[in-house]
Amino acid sequence: MTTDQLKALVRDVPDFPQEGIVFKDLMPLIGNADAFRSTIEHLAEWARPRSPDVILGAEARGFIFGGALAYELGCGFVPARKPGKLPWEKIRATYELEYGNDSLEIHADAFARGARVIVLDDVLATGGTAKAKVELVEQLGGIVVGALFVIELAFLHGRERLANTDVQALIAY
Ligand code: AMP
Repeated sequence: MTTDQLKALVRDVPDFPQEGIVFKDLMPLIGNADAFRSTIEHLAEWARPRSPDVILGAEARGFIFGGALAYELGCGFVPARKPGKLPWEKIRATYELEYGNDSLEIHADAFARGARVIVLDDVLATGGTAKAKVELVEQLGGIVVGALFVIELAFLHGRERLANTDVQALIAY
């Protein structure tokens, strides 16, 4: 499927989770077998030549795309989770959302120093979440070889916060 066809399966939900936010709901795309497979193939096409050792994705939608992408590429997957969810020794980064603040944690032994990491998420909005993931990778001595998204809300200029990172999104608004 083309990225325009995939875009047609993204549902706009006005005023969710709060007034003034237009939430990009990817559930219709994920629930469609052809669209989900095609999305993973498009993501993999960009990611493969960058030879990642692991994909780093945040809960919850980053797990859905990240797990499938890691499987497609034959690399590992590292979950970034909300505080208190991971059982082992961990590191933390705090970030701002389009709506609110939050923190993400990864295990301190999630990957080796020098590992090649692609940070992945469903939506690039202000870039705060992705920047926090880049910081987590760098804290552990990993190399960010790309920041990959299904959707980019270009009007929020998230790319500018990822200035030194190679950024790609399949669908832009
Ligand atoms: P940000 O840190 O501002 O780039 O926000 C990115 C994170 O927030 C992603 O994990 C998205 O899932 C979520 N997010 C932010 N804005 C939206 C939106 N308009 N629609 C759907 N998800 C969003």
